Amino acid sequence: MNSYVEQTIKRVIEKNGHEPEFIQAVKEVLESLEPVIDQHKEYQDVSLLERLVEPERIISFRVPWLDDNNKVQVNRGFRVQFNGAIGPYKGGLRFHKSVNQSIMKFLAFEQTFKNSLTGLPIGGGKGGSDFDPKGKSDNEIMRFCQSFMNELQKHINHNLDVPAGDIGVGAREIGYLFGQYRRIKNTFEAGVLTGKDLSYGGSLARKEATGFGLMYFMREMLNANNKNLKDKIVTISGSGNVAIYAAQKAMEMGAKVVAMSDSNGCIYDGKGIDLDLIKQLKEVERKRIKEYLLKHSDAKYMENIIGQTPAVYTIKADIVLPCATQNDINLETAKLLVQNGVIAIGEGANMPTTIEAIDYLIQHNVLLAPAKAANAGGVATSALEMSQNSMRYAWTFDEVDKKLNDIMTNIFKMCYDTSKEYNLGINYVASANIAGFKKVANAMMAQGVI
Ligand code: NDP
Repeated sequence: MNSYVEQTIKRVIEKNGHEPEFIQAVKEVLESLEPVIDQHKEYQDVSLLERLVEPERIISFRVPWLDDNNKVQVNRGFRVQFNGAIGPYKGGLRFHKSVNQSIMKFLAFEQTFKNSLTGLPIGGGKGGSDFDPKGKSDNEIMRFCQSFMNELQKHINHNLDVPAGDIGVGAREIGYLFGQYRRIKNTFEAGVLTGKDLSYGGSLARKEATGFGLMYFMREMLNANNKNLKDKIVTISGSGNVAIYAAQKAMEMGAKVVAMSDSNGCIYDGKGIDLDLIKQLKEVERKRIKEYLLKHSDAKYMENIIGQTPAVYTIKADIVLPCATQNDINLETAKLLVQNGVIAIGEGANMPTTIEAIDYLIQHNVLLAPAKAANAGGVATSALEMSQNSMRYAWTFDEVDKKLNDIMTNIFKMCYDTSKEYNLGINYVASANIAGFKKVANAMMAQGVI
C-alpha cells in the first residue's frame, strides 16, 4: 500500500480507536485513493490527507426537553462540519437512538465526497441526536425539535451550513425545526434547511429524490453492463423515505418489488408489493410493516433474529437495494446474496455494506452502486431547493426530476470514466471515491493550509 495512505490510516485508528464506523469510512476511501495519491506527491507536503480526515468542526450539545408527563428528558445533539472547501456544509440530521460521534463523523466524511460528485457547490456536514422518535407524540417531537434548534441555530445559516432530513427526520421534523429557527432569528431564511414542505419553500420532487436518483443511477450502471431492470425481482431493506421512492421508480422501470422491511422484519409479497399500502402505513400512520398482512393475508412476514442475516436478504432477488442503515450487509449476507444469484446492489443507505462484503461482491462480479454516488440525488435536489429559494421561484416536478435525472446520469458517467482511467473494472466504489475526492483536493490545495 502507498506509505502515505498507510500512515494516515494508522494515525486515524490511533486517534479515533473508539469510533469504528468513522475508521471504516476512512479506510474505504483512503485505500481506494492510492492511484491518485501516487500521482500527486505534493499532497503529502501539505498534509492533505491528514486534513481531509479531521473535521473542520464538531459541535456537541445538550438537548433538554419536556415529555408528555412533564418529565425532563435529556439527549445529545451533534453537528459535524467536516469539510467546507467547495461550499457551505450540507447534510442531513439523523434522529435515532444509535446516534453517536462515530456515526456522525462517518456520515459527514462520506457526505463530503458525495456532495462533490453532484457537481454542485456544497461541502460536507451531518448532524443529529440520539433522540428516539419511535412512540413519541407529535408534541414531544415538536418540543424536542425546538430545543434542538435553540442550540443548532447558532451554527447554521444559508451560507454556512444547511441541514436536511435523514433517518427519523422527515417533513414533520423539518417543519418544527424551521419554525423555531424563524422565530429565534426573526427572519424568513428559506435556504437554511432543505426538505421543507411545499407550503413554505420546499421543492417538488425532493421527497422522491433519493430513491428516484438511486434508480436513475442503477439504470445507467446496468445499461453500461448490458443489463436492465425489466422484469427483475427486487428486494428492498427499509421502508422509509429512500426505500419507498426507490420502490416506486423500480416499478415504473419495469421491475417487480417483492419485499420491503423495517427494523423488526420484512414482508414478502410474491405478486408485487402494494406500495400505496406501504406509504399509508409508514408515511401516514407510522406503523410497523407487519401490519401489511392485515390487508394482504397471502403475503408473508419474516421477523429479524438478532445476530442473523436480516430476513429481507434471505429472499432470492436479482437486484437488492439496501435503503435502511449502515453495515446491513456483512460478508455472510454478501455470500448468501451471491449464492441466490444477485446481479446488482444499489446502496440507497449510507455505508450499508461492510468493506469485506464490498470486496466479496465485486470479486463475484456483482455490480455495486456505491452510496456516495447512488444516493446523491437527495442532496443534489436539496441544492436545487436552495437555488429555488434564492431565486424565490419554484420549478415544476418535471423540471426538478429532469435535473435530477441529468445529475445522476452524469455521476454515473464520472464513475464509469474514472473506472476506465484507473483500470478499476466494475469497482465503482473506488471510482466514486476518486472522482469525489479530486474536486475537494483541488479546492483544498488552492485554498492553502487551513
Ligand atoms: P427513514 O427514517 O425514512 O427510514 C429508515 C428505514 O430503515 C426504516 O424503515 C427503518 O425501520 C429502517 N431501519 C432498519 N434498521 C434500522 C436501523 N438499525 N437504524 C435505522 N433505521 C433502520 O430514513 P431514510 O429513508 O431517510 O434513510 C435511509 C438511509 O438512506 C439512511 O442510511 C440514510 O442515511 C440514507 N440516505 C437518506 C437520504 C434522504 O434523502 N433521506 C439521502 C441519502 C442517504 P424502523 O422504522 O423500524 O426504524
